Amino acid sequence: MDDRAIPFQGTQGVGKNAAQPGVLYVVGTPIGNLSDLSWRAFNILSSCDCIACETPQVTQKLLTLLNIPKKPLFTYRDAGEIQSAQHLLRKLQNQQSVALVSDAGTPSISDPGYRLMKICQEQGVRVVPIPGPNAAIAALSMAGLPTNAFLFLGFLPPKEGRIAKLFQANQAFRGTIVLYESPHRIQKLILTLRKFFDTNTRIAITHELTKLNESCYYGTLEDLDESTLSLKGEYVVLIEQGG
Ligand code: SAM
Repeated sequence: MDDRAIPFQGTQGVGKNAAQPGVLYVVGTPIGNLSDLSWRAFNILSSCDCIACETPQVTQKLLTLLNIPKKPLFTYRDAGEIQSAQHLLRKLQNQQSVALVSDAGTPSISDPGYRLMKICQEQGVRVVPIPGPNAAIAALSMAGLPTNAFLFLGFLPPKEGRIAKLFQANQAFRGTIVLYESPHRIQKLILTLRKFFDTNTRIAITHELTKLNESCYYGTLEDLDESTLSLKGEYVVLIEQGG
């Protein structure tokens, strides 16, 4: 979290917005700026019985910044997701209130969560979204590329053959393609995109959204000098298809 963040004080406002027994809350948390946490998210994290999270240290840091007293944290990751989901399901069926968070942003969007939602929906457990920050939507909202239709592909597969199949399958799509990428692969991703899209394709590369060094490249694939992209921080890449 950067130093523009404003720590919450106390637990005022929990009251009628408190977590209810037997309900799973899917809570969006900041992608860089603590002030982006919603009051509703704060109320649920303050009042739930336990929190399922990707990395307990990361979530504990968030709770400490928010002045929320310590509470049980359970690791919920892709590895062992089915067993963890069943464990959390039993807690919910025993009338505990559970909040699911990821390290940053909205759980289950390129993050763990899907299996838990599925099992809860199948078993009739109430699932409540607490909408909050999401890197893809934040990027799309400011990138200057079409927003009437967008295709979220998350992280591309590692092998070029599978990337080719994915782009071929979506060839007819008209709008903005949204990709996530890690900093150590961003330059390679641009080289890969040049193989599949015309050089005059409009793209936006958003970097470190909501953080102190937030930036955005807006232009064509041809004009972008990929060597200027930082090898640190986080990226969302947006591509206009059929513009
Ligand atoms: N669930 C998260 C969400 O709702 O956005 C996404 C988690 S995914 C594991 C992490 C990826 O999201 C990063 O590799 C990057 O592509 C993108 N991302 C997360 N935070 C970002 C930020 N502050 N600025 C730009 N991209 C970000």
